[in-house]
Amino acid sequence: MADKHDDAEALVVGAGVAGLAAAHRLTSAGLDVVVLEAEVRPGGRLSTLETSGGPMERGAQFLSTGYTVIPELVSVAGLADQVVPVSGRSMVLLGGRSHAFDTMRPGTLVRGGTVRARDALPALRGMMRARRLAHRDIADIGQWADLDQIDGQSWSTAVFGTGLTARLLNPTVLGLYFLTLSANSGAIPGALAAFQARRAKAVTVRGGLGRLAVALARPLNVEYGVRVERVWRDGTGGAVLATNRGRRRAASVVLATPAKPTTEMLAEPTPQEAAVLSVPYSRGLLIGLALGEQLAAGEVGDAYGVLASPGDTTPLAAVAVRSRADAGSSGDLLTVMLRPSAVDQWWSASDRDLHGVAVAALSPLLPELKDRVTGAHIVRWEQAMPAVPTGHVAAVTAYRRGIRPTDPVVLAGDYLGFPWTDSAAFNGRWAADHLLSR
Ligand SMILES: Cc1cc2nc3c(=O)[nH]c(=O)nc-3n(C[C@H](O)[C@H](O)[C@H](O)COP(=O)(O)OP(=O)(O)OC[C@H]3O[C@@H](n4cnc5c(N)ncnc54)[C@H](O)[C@@H]3O)c2cc1C
Repeated sequence: MADKHDDAEALVVGAGVAGLAAAHRLTSAGLDVVVLEAEVRPGGRLSTLETSGGPMERGAQFLSTGYTVIPELVSVAGLADQVVPVSGRSMVLLGGRSHAFDTMRPGTLVRGGTVRARDALPALRGMMRARRLAHRDIADIGQWADLDQIDGQSWSTAVFGTGLTARLLNPTVLGLYFLTLSANSGAIPGALAAFQARRAKAVTVRGGLGRLAVALARPLNVEYGVRVERVWRDGTGGAVLATNRGRRRAASVVLATPAKPTTEMLAEPTPQEAAVLSVPYSRGLLIGLALGEQLAAGEVGDAYGVLASPGDTTPLAAVAVRSRADAGSSGDLLTVMLRPSAVDQWWSASDRDLHGVAVAALSPLLPELKDRVTGAHIVRWEQAMPAVPTGHVAAVTAYRRGIRPTDPVVLAGDYLGFPWTDSAAFNGRWAADHLLSR
């Protein structure tokens, strides 16, 4: 495959979960693979920061037993015995009031007031209808073509009614993805319904999800601090990469980076590539508040996750309580995730100001919080989550069907799928399998 001028048979750009999944697949097939990563560590949006309050997830907060690709990677990484369940107790903030529920016990949605009695029947009917989605693949967006032309708000309202949509699905899409149902297709609420229908549980890895990326990267040939600036097909069947450390060449290249860097680096994208790369992203602004001790039983309704309604005036999108995912450390870590309007307002604010914003936003739930915080840690993502707008499944399918078998460059960014790790890993794997099938 490789000629004598090649660095490697395959270059993978990006050591996030997509790039790591691709590199493992290609390496297992016997190829000589080099991963080029701009940062000094692997994982990208699957990485963990050590804080005085315990591990802070910089991106992905939890995994799911409903995933299909990630569990295989967890096994490859030797971490299967380190996977622990996250508390299913959650809370949603609606009209200034908090409502607790348990994700594994739908009845608690009604008992806790998230779903009002008058909304319960359409919600229940919707859940019954959604059972037929239980076996759909939530990693492969190509499986969701039937929901590609309807917007998520309309689909969700038609299936679950206005009550469950407004009081649970809108807060979920805001809290988990910093997006809105109306700006996405029915594929997003459809896939969320599939998680629910297969009774998927949230899980994490003891000590932080970043351990997964570190363990996956360890046996691979990863070069850190290498920023790819330009990629072009060289006309002789290979590709050339201009990087901050000089030029590289390979017979095959997988681009496992988000849409913005990929657009900047890819010379002369095809119309199909340009179409999938045009997808909008939400931005992410996370404030980790470290506490000297763990939250007491009963505080924040014992919830692991708090979601906020888009209609509320709070700057919150969501909050995650570390000790209720993994009680490994003596302290605690509250990860406050801001909603898009607040991200716009506070994007350039100082760490000190953001600390204040997070404490004030949490004060209705934790009035004495200010005196308990021992440190604040800020994480910004210019491209946090890709949206799945109407027509996007068709664009991804057109890209995948239209790619020439001899094309040396294959895309594997998260804009080809859903905004969660399992789909990112699927994209990496798909790119590797495509290269191996030639
Ligand atoms: C705040 C937040 C919360 C989330 N919560 C969840 C969750 O709870 N559960 C879940 O499953 N998913 C969650 N996600 C989504 C999940 O994190 C992503 O789907 C997944 O990590 C994306 O992986 P990736 O490999 O496609 O991209 P990335 O993780 O972004 O990896 C891309 C890599 O490429 C590198 N790179 C970029 N440009 C270049 C360049 N020019 N040259 C070389 N290298 C480059 C980057 O440094 C990075 O390491 C969350 C994401 C965010 C931001």
